[in-house]
Amino acid sequence: MSGAQTEPLPGAAAASASSHWGIVGGGMLGMTLALRLSEQGKRVTLIEAAPQVGGLASAWQLGDVTWDRHYHVTLLSDTALRKLLDELGLDEEIEWTETRTGVFAGGKLHSVSNTLELLRFPVLNTVNIARLGATILSAARRTDWQQLEQIPVADWLIRWSGKRAFERFWLPLLRSKLGEAYTQTSAAFIWSTIQRLYAARRSGMKREMFGSVRGGYARVLETFSHRLRDKGVRMLLDAPVSVVGPAPGGVEVSLRDGRQLQFDHVVVTAAAPAAARACQGLTEDEQTRLAGVCYLGIVCASVLLKRPLDGYYVTNLLDAGLPFTGVIEMSAMVHPRQFNGCGLVYLPRYLAPDDPFFEQSDDEVRRVFMQGLQRVYPSIGDADVLAFRVSRVRHVMPLPTIGYSTRLPPEDTSVAGLHLVNSAHIVNGTLNVNETVQLAERAAQRFAAWK
Ligand SMILES: Cc1cc2nc3c(=O)[nH]c(=O)nc-3n(C[C@H](O)[C@H](O)[C@H](O)COP(=O)(O)OP(=O)(O)OC[C@H]3O[C@@H](n4cnc5c(N)ncnc54)[C@H](O)[C@@H]3O)c2cc1C
Repeated sequence: MSGAQTEPLPGAAAASASSHWGIVGGGMLGMTLALRLSEQGKRVTLIEAAPQVGGLASAWQLGDVTWDRHYHVTLLSDTALRKLLDELGLDEEIEWTETRTGVFAGGKLHSVSNTLELLRFPVLNTVNIARLGATILSAARRTDWQQLEQIPVADWLIRWSGKRAFERFWLPLLRSKLGEAYTQTSAAFIWSTIQRLYAARRSGMKREMFGSVRGGYARVLETFSHRLRDKGVRMLLDAPVSVVGPAPGGVEVSLRDGRQLQFDHVVVTAAAPAAARACQGLTEDEQTRLAGVCYLGIVCASVLLKRPLDGYYVTNLLDAGLPFTGVIEMSAMVHPRQFNGCGLVYLPRYLAPDDPFFEQSDDEVRRVFMQGLQRVYPSIGDADVLAFRVSRVRHVMPLPTIGYSTRLPPEDTSVAGLHLVNSAHIVNGTLNVNETVQLAERAAQRFAAWK
């Protein structure tokens, strides 16, 4: 099919024999796929609903600081992402650091950043800690994640760690990552989380470190966008797609503003509910599989403070009644000089996509979250806040529910030329950019054979 887009593509005449691919979604997945397909000599158009690329990894302005809308770290062992950053000339720009972890329990902050501190942690006794260690080692050594996918995560952790360690250690951690959705989640979730954290040791590195490119994802995305343009990728921003459907000899994409674009192939990278809404002509089974993916949403506040907090990158919350599921202090991981000496803190609350908390105004979220932050850090008051912004995303992370890998949506659909590749296809991993990049790399290898 010849490209029927309204504007000519850069280099279109020279490349007229190559197939034309449309990619819906300009997050890290869509961008990586666009880069690889353009390197294969395909003509590529990247279509993004938002005015900027990056999706969940995009950046925003917070007072005088531009930083990620959601907190992001890169691990030393994130090899797929680091290879991509290296190609963009940014791997050398990562600043690495060892971080500290805190726990808020019994109205106090405790450091649990090493084994000694964990042993001293008053909430767990030595038997609990020994069983915790055995649980982590067991998960780090196992390879049979399919079996773990059949067991609820709480059952598996209680079996290995005991009830007390589950309630005092694992449950707050599960809640901090999954909210109440932990009850629907399989043990494969904790397995993949531990596998990710142990990847550095397995690959021979002595320890894991956390890092971030100087300038954050704003810098990564700007450099990546330039690279895509240099490769001739056409980028349509502020262009929400309303329909993707079969057309004679290919696939047609209708934008909300009425424009229609024709492609030989279209890859939809948006989350499963958005893909289900847009894609026409799918079979009932394909629609059922898309609808069957349960998502976790997030309300996440970015708070710029006059000064950094106590230096814990993650603080897990054991005490009940706090309005958020963890405290993430980015200025404990990234040097505060990048924030003009200020503190940057994220307050995430993971919840179900239909939770009424999504409807709360920014002012209400600020009131409730600041009350919570003052419980953890009594010296912090409203006068310390330089900027406060709230991000809301209803479909962030597909939940690894029981038997998840047997119910995946198809990657190549029954509509000729229509492909779905999104975070729902991460089966034995957690949601992170390294997995996202790997997903794009695998899809690109597969698409190499499609002319
Ligand atoms: C709170 C939080 C913390 C995180 N922390 C980390 C971390 O520390 N380390 C790490 O590696 N990863 C982290 N991640 C995960 C990381 O952000 C994701 O793995 C990655 O950004 C997913 O990219 P994606 O392209 O698959 O999806 P998305 O970023 O969701 O991109 C999908 C894109 O599709 C677009 N779209 C949707 N519908 C349409 C439509 N109809 N038309 C056109 N465009 C459409 C969206 O606007 C979006 O830009 C975190 C995520 C969150 C939310």
